[in-house]
Amino acid sequence: MIIKIHRGTREIGGSCVEIAHGKDRIVIDMGLPLIGDDGCGKADISKKIGTLPEIEGLYSSDESKKRVSALFVSHAHLDHYGLIHHADRRVPVFLGRATRELIEISCAMSGGSVAPDAWAPLDDRKPLEAGCFRVTPFLVDHSAMDAYAFLVEAGDRKVFYSGDFRAHGRKGRLMKGIIEDDIQDIDALILEGTNIASRRKAKSETDIEDELARFFKRKKDGIVLVSASSQNLDRLVSIYKAARKAGKTLVIDPYTAFVLDAMAKYGRFPDFSGAFGGLKVFFPTFITGKLVDLGCWPKIVNFSKFKITKEELTERRSGIVMMVKSSMKPNLRGLKALEGGSLVWSMWDGYLKEESSRRFLEFLGRQGMDLGAPAGLKVIHTSGHADLETLKSFAASLAPKTIIPIHTMNPEKYGETFNNAIMLKDGEEFEI
Ligand SMILES: [Zn+2]
Ligand SMILES: [Zn+2]
Repeated sequence: MIIKIHRGTREIGGSCVEIAHGKDRIVIDMGLPLIGDDGCGKADISKKIGTLPEIEGLYSSDESKKRVSALFVSHAHLDHYGLIHHADRRVPVFLGRATRELIEISCAMSGGSVAPDAWAPLDDRKPLEAGCFRVTPFLVDHSAMDAYAFLVEAGDRKVFYSGDFRAHGRKGRLMKGIIEDDIQDIDALILEGTNIASRRKAKSETDIEDELARFFKRKKDGIVLVSASSQNLDRLVSIYKAARKAGKTLVIDPYTAFVLDAMAKYGRFPDFSGAFGGLKVFFPTFITGKLVDLGCWPKIVNFSKFKITKEELTERRSGIVMMVKSSMKPNLRGLKALEGGSLVWSMWDGYLKEESSRRFLEFLGRQGMDLGAPAGLKVIHTSGHADLETLKSFAASLAPKTIIPIHTMNPEKYGETFNNAIMLKDGEEFEI
């Protein structure tokens, strides 16, 4: 079996792994390169599409070559799926059901495209055949829901690809479950190491919920705005629960409502069935217009039963926690509810340094918000990726013969952390 990491041996972003055995090949992830963030989420697609990975038989222009048997997508973050629309539409694509929906929602909103002809769903621990490969997906804990690691078997060889994972999220127990499965004789573990260079123990998602609740309770006067990803379902649950603990109403935009509504069939998330109190929707022009253009009018009608107006926001501001995005600026301008309000940044703090974030914060300041840290601007966040202790214990439990770094800015740390690490270069072949 030959492993070739096309991208990701020394960067976070653009993850793409080709595994070959005999004449058959599969590809795991075909991500968009990102530069310098904590792994997932934001990317300006127009600027960051790099050279496509050189994989024979993956593209429709490659008719003379034997086609790749399958493409597996670990989860719905751009650095793992962002280039899949370049693959030959006839190559079967395997991915989780919720993952597929999340990708379709993102693509619809951004005007991008995915849509290969052959999709098939992944189910936790249900092996799939692709060429001579047997591939078993394992559901993992990550900031994207429905994320998978993969066990790939062919001949008498076994590779385990960790994908992006952690053990401190709401599904942290999944990692223990994989260890208890006691997978024997793993030849190579391709292990993500976003946080391998940090000694800090990761806060759990429930720590985040508690921290948010304390902050929301402390803010007795003025609105609390929260900046967070609409697709980080763990975090949406934390924000909602924290708002309820503080006796406040959570106000979301229709895009976030759309995501929650779509995901409600996969888990217990605050939705619009009427079973969840303290949830309202504010309708900013841009996001609402976009959803209407996409034909989501029936959903908008349903969400409008939960509508909150600008006047109500102002009147009830001390009892409101509201999720915001910079695209909401035209509707936030001059909004009296913002005066004296504060902001929780519930994403990677590196995004705070980006020009667009800085401009958004300045804009909020001009609306009368108090954005002096730590009283008015607070970062409350935990990573979507495993901390060092988790990486160590997970690797020790799987006991692979070799550990190969991926999804890391610090591949050299693997050599210091594990005695069986082998650092590859992008595009280098490694035979097991
Ligand atoms: Zn990633
Ligand atoms: Zn990810």
